[in-house]
Amino acid sequence: MRHLYDVIIIGGGPGGYTAALYAARAGLDTLVLEKLSAGGQMALTTQIDNYPGFEAGIDGFTLGEKMQQGAERFGAKTEIVEVDGVHLQGPVKTVHTNEGIFEAKTVILAMGAHPRKLGIPDEARLVGHGLHYCAACDGMFYKDKTVVVVGGGNSAAADALLLSRICKKVILVHRRDELRATKIYHQPLMQAENVEFQWNQTVESVIESIVADDGHDGRQGRRFSGGRNHVQITGVRLKNAATGEKQEIVCDGIFVSVGREPETRMIENQVVLDENGYIIADESTKTNLPGVFAVGDIRTKALRQIVTATADGANAAYAVEEYLANK
Ligand SMILES: Cc1cc2nc3c(=O)[nH]c(=O)nc-3n(C[C@H](O)[C@H](O)[C@H](O)COP(=O)(O)OP(=O)(O)OC[C@H]3O[C@@H](n4cnc5c(N)ncnc54)[C@H](O)[C@@H]3O)c2cc1C
Repeated sequence: MRHLYDVIIIGGGPGGYTAALYAARAGLDTLVLEKLSAGGQMALTTQIDNYPGFEAGIDGFTLGEKMQQGAERFGAKTEIVEVDGVHLQGPVKTVHTNEGIFEAKTVILAMGAHPRKLGIPDEARLVGHGLHYCAACDGMFYKDKTVVVVGGGNSAAADALLLSRICKKVILVHRRDELRATKIYHQPLMQAENVEFQWNQTVESVIESIVADDGHDGRQGRRFSGGRNHVQITGVRLKNAATGEKQEIVCDGIFVSVGREPETRMIENQVVLDENGYIIADESTKTNLPGVFAVGDIRTKALRQIVTATADGANAAYAVEEYLANK
C-alpha cells in the first residue's frame, strides 16, 4: 500500500539523524534511508574530541548509533537501502532505491561528501596508520610532531596553517611551483617558521615502519591499551614533477587536502549546485526546489564538521515543519 511520509531523509550521518530526531519529535512521519550504517563519515574515526558533551571524546561509530537511537526513540524509522534516483519536483517526492520506491511530501538531502583521494598505492589501508583527510579532526594527534600536507588550494593552505600551530613542523607538498590558494593564506604561511615547502613534488608512495605502541600513536584517533606494535607511516617518497628526481622525507603523518567531492551526482539535474558540486543552500537549508532541503557536508558552507551538520539537521526539520504548515 502506498505510504506518503511527511519527510524522507537520504543519508544517516549526523546531519540526517539530527533532522530525523527533530522531525520525529515534532510529530512528523519520518523515514531515514541509509545505504551502510548510522554515522556516515563519523563512523570512520575512533576518536571524536570536538563534539560537545563527551569529556573523554567518543568513537564515531558509537556516536552514530546514539544519534540513530535518539531519533528512533521518537518514532523515526530507518531503512537500510541505497537510493539510486529521485524525483524532487512537485508536491509528492519519489525516492527510488534498490528495495523499491518511497514517497514523501518533503525530502532532506543528507548524503554528505567524501575527501578526494591522493591516488597512492594502498591508500585505503593507510587510513588509520598515519594518513588523514581532515586536519581539524585529527591534527591534535600530531602535537609536536612532523606532518606532511599534500595540496595547494585553500583547504591545503588552511590545513597547513592550522597544523603549524599544533605540530613541530609542517611540510607542504604541492605539485606546482606556487599555491592555488587565495592570497590571504600566502603571507601567514610564508611567515610561519615551522612550515617548509616542497614545490613541484608529487607523492609517489609512503614509507611504513613497525613502531612500538606508546598507547597513543597519532593514528586516526586510535588509542591502544599498550604493549603492541603497529604499522605506521614514517615518511613519504616524493618525485619532482619537473625533473623526475626522487627523494624521501621523514614524517609522522600525512594530511591529504586535495579537495572533497559531495555526493550530488544523483540530483545534479534537479537541484542547483555551485561550481564545486555542492548544493546551494544557506543556513535555512532550503534548496531551489520547494519542499527539498540540504544538510551537512553536502551543502555550501565554510566548515564541514559534525556540529555544523547537526545544526543543519535541526534547521531543516524546522523548515520542513514550516513548509508543511503552509501547504
Ligand atoms: C576520518 C574522518 C574523521 C572525522 N573526524 C571528525 C571529528 O573529529 N570531528 C568533526 O566534527 N568532524 C569530523 N569529521 C567530519 C564529519 O564526520 C563530517 O563533517 C560529518 O559526518 C558530515 O555529516 P553529514 O551528515 O553531512 O554526512 P556524512 O557523515 O557524510 O553522512 C552521509 C550518509 O549518507 C549516506 N549516503 C550517501 N549516499 C547515499 C545513497 N545514495 N543512499 C543512501 N545513503 C546514502 C552515507 O552512507 C552516509 O552514511 C571526520 C570525517 C572523517 C572522514
